[in-house]
Amino acid sequence: SDTRFRGKTIIITGAGGNFGREGCLYFARRGANIAALDLNVGALHETLAEVKTVSGCDGRIKAYLCDVSNTDFVEAAIQAVSNDFGRIDMLWNNAGYQGEIKPTLEYDPADFARVMNINVTGMFHVLPSVAKRMAAQGVTGDNSSTTSHPYSIVNTASVAALRGTPAMVAYSSSKAAVLAMTVCTAKTSNSIVAVCILWKKDLAPHGIRVNAVSPALIGPGFLWTRQNELHASSGSPYFASDPEQVAQAKISGVPMKRLGSIDEVLKSVAYLLSDDSSYSTGTNLVIDGG
Ligand code: NAD
Repeated sequence: SDTRFRGKTIIITGAGGNFGREGCLYFARRGANIAALDLNVGALHETLAEVKTVSGCDGRIKAYLCDVSNTDFVEAAIQAVSNDFGRIDMLWNNAGYQGEIKPTLEYDPADFARVMNINVTGMFHVLPSVAKRMAAQGVTGDNSSTTSHPYSIVNTASVAALRGTPAMVAYSSSKAAVLAMTVCTAKTSNSIVAVCILWKKDLAPHGIRVNAVSPALIGPGFLWTRQNELHASSGSPYFASDPEQVAQAKISGVPMKRLGSIDEVLKSVAYLLSDDSSYSTGTNLVIDGG
């Protein structure tokens, strides 16, 4: 059986959503203690109820209402997690908002700001709030083994960050910022000189690895269906006006000719959160079928 997460405390943001809920189940089944954070209280409690009814969940789960875009709210929630669990090992920084699906010329700047505020600023509120507690817990292993970096953070980005998705300018911009945040917080700079000066200022010396996942077309499910409907009605010249045709065109553009599953996203997140990726930091694992 998978013992990588047994007894570990994992914080998951966006825990009421599609990925977050399945993530809570995935890690709970593997004996992790889970702090589930979300803004949507109803969805959060459904996650809690589902995890509690899963047989074989040895770990604990607690839910925390939290708006990641509000720094005080985040700090209070992370402090509560710290009080309740005593120790934080891993963070899946996953809450996100897709924004409008509209051609760039019609895109509402207020919605652009909202997307950035949740996906970028919100992710940034959570990351240092958790990392400073990990840093304070310290590192006990020696520097030549996998115990040198016991803490791991995974940020959810998207292939939209790499290729751009038509009619999603805010979302694509926000996820590109998430990738830059991942590289920067992991190590600050690739330059040898800068590393010598700045290395001590970022997270690697505190035993914390920071990586990203970039899923592409994941489904079937509500999100996949909704996105095709919105793309079909967006008026963008890139998409047919029939959602089913939109879906087929997207899948035919994937070299592996199928959608990815949430389980395939979770396996990648688990790889990056666990010691299996002990010498990787600042990377982006793309989950896109080619
Ligand atoms: P989802 O909409 O089902 O879940 C997102 C969750 O984030 C929701 O429960 C929502 O309440 C929560 N949230 C939104 N704003 C928040 C805030 N301010 N504070 C706290 N929580 C907030 O979406 P999902 O499919 O589970 O996506 C999870 C992550 O994966 C997102 O970052 C998304 O951008 C990314 N992603 C998803 C896909 C996909 O195909 N589903 C592909 C690539 C990337």
